[in-house]
Amino acid sequence: MTDIVVECRLGNIADQPDVDVIVNAANARLLPGSGVAGAIHAAAGEGLAEECRALAPIRPGQAVITAGHRLPNAHVIHCLGPVYGVDEPSRPLLADCYRNALRLADRHGLASIAFPAISTGVFGYPIREAAEVAVATIADSLSLLQHIFKIRLVLFSPEDYDVFRKAIATGLPPAVRGS
Ligand code: ADP
Repeated sequence: MTDIVVECRLGNIADQPDVDVIVNAANARLLPGSGVAGAIHAAAGEGLAEECRALAPIRPGQAVITAGHRLPNAHVIHCLGPVYGVDEPSRPLLADCYRNALRLADRHGLASIAFPAISTGVFGYPIREAAEVAVATIADSLSLLQHIFKIRLVLFSPEDYDVFRKAIATGLPPAVRGS
């Protein structure tokens, strides 16, 4: 395990130029769509949708990797989160997204990764529960990672940022918490 920092930022997932890979809260067909997927595809350009076509469809909890195209990031990892109340049990499926994305990034030798709050938009996962699952899964994955040293959680609203900041403060040891 490297010395890993887990940090929280208020901002746009498509504007994280200092990380190797950003995670897309994708839909099953890996189409542009709204929210996170819309922002990432708009910034990446049509080449991303073209590359995605060959990889779709994906299942809840699955993660696949593409190039970043016009994004400042070398790669995008596309995860399909569970639709809350529909894809059940939702907790392990949401945990799979974080676990599989981290393992995939690490297997590609990537050093830094940024996640949005997967499933908490149109898929309806309550933000507090989602934050707890995200942080607990990251905590469980740390010992398996060999290359990743920075894990960033990017939240779109000050309220969500606050929830994730608190989840990090209670769910991770001080040595791992970033500013
Ligand atoms: P899902 O379909 O997995 O619920 P969404 O894209 O609808 O994914 O939303 C996931 C979360 O990301 C929501 O909390 C939403 O507010 C937030 N979000 C939306 N756009 C962005 C963005 N550009 N950068 C970071 N977070 C975003």
